[in-house]
Amino acid sequence: MPELPEVETIKRGLVELIIGKKIKTIAVLDSPKSLRASKNDLDAFVINHKISNINRRGKTLIITLDSDYAFLVHLRMTGQLVYREKDFNFGAGHPNDSLIGNLPDKTTRIIIEFTDDSKLFFNDQRKFGYFKLMPKDEVENDSFIKKLGPEPLGTNKSITEQFIKRIRKRNNSLVKAAILDQSVIAGIGNIYADEALFLAKVHPASKVKDLTDDELVSILESAIKVMKLSIKLGGSTDKNYIDAKGNRGTYLNFANVFRREGKPCKNHPDVLIEKIRVAGRGTHICPAEQVIRSNDD
Ligand SMILES: [Zn+2]
Repeated sequence: MPELPEVETIKRGLVELIIGKKIKTIAVLDSPKSLRASKNDLDAFVINHKISNINRRGKTLIITLDSDYAFLVHLRMTGQLVYREKDFNFGAGHPNDSLIGNLPDKTTRIIIEFTDDSKLFFNDQRKFGYFKLMPKDEVENDSFIKKLGPEPLGTNKSITEQFIKRIRKRNNSLVKAAILDQSVIAGIGNIYADEALFLAKVHPASKVKDLTDDELVSILESAIKVMKLSIKLGGSTDKNYIDAKGNRGTYLNFANVFRREGKPCKNHPDVLIEKIRVAGRGTHICPAEQVIRSNDD
């Protein structure tokens, strides 16, 4: 599932490639739910309008047009965006062969064609993702955007304070469930939750109330650190994508625990990473470093 670093990778790529481009056509293939916009609105606010800005909020991409309308792009489980022009290809998001193959293919849901004949493809194997058109001024009030917690990669100095305040409201939750809650902190998914908890040496099934503020801050700082590292490695772009047979380029090379069950811990060669279930999600830990503590003892 594309997480914040992958969406940030898409954003950075597209900012370089499509800002200022004028949309000639937009077509939705076989899955009408992928494009949530009326034909009238598309004709009035999308066709013949230029891309003016691209932002990210949590795992949502916001593509703004010079009509003062914007697309919220939710990649969900398997979404990816691929930009193509004559001899150039950029793609990021869910890592599969569509990043590098001929497009459109059977996963293509939306094709945006620009007036210079370059194209942007929205591919989404499992069809949970979508583009939603809305007035730019309403984006902040969108029900999904509105409830998002602070932005981990933002420059807002009060992020730690906001994070602590929000996570303390979930004192009775397991810490993994709490940091996956997008209203506590925006953009953390399963990979970065496991990696952050490992770096902070906190067991994912610890209750928030049993952790100190310092431990919670350490989890936040670890999440930020590992997301920044992943962005630096390029997320899951086609540049480091190899094939669909498990070779995901550098996508998960930074991982200490995620999908490393049965392999030796990088800190403890004698200890094997374990996969357990926490908050309904597959969860990876080093049993030597991550132990459930309880302040009730
Ligand atoms: Zn270890």
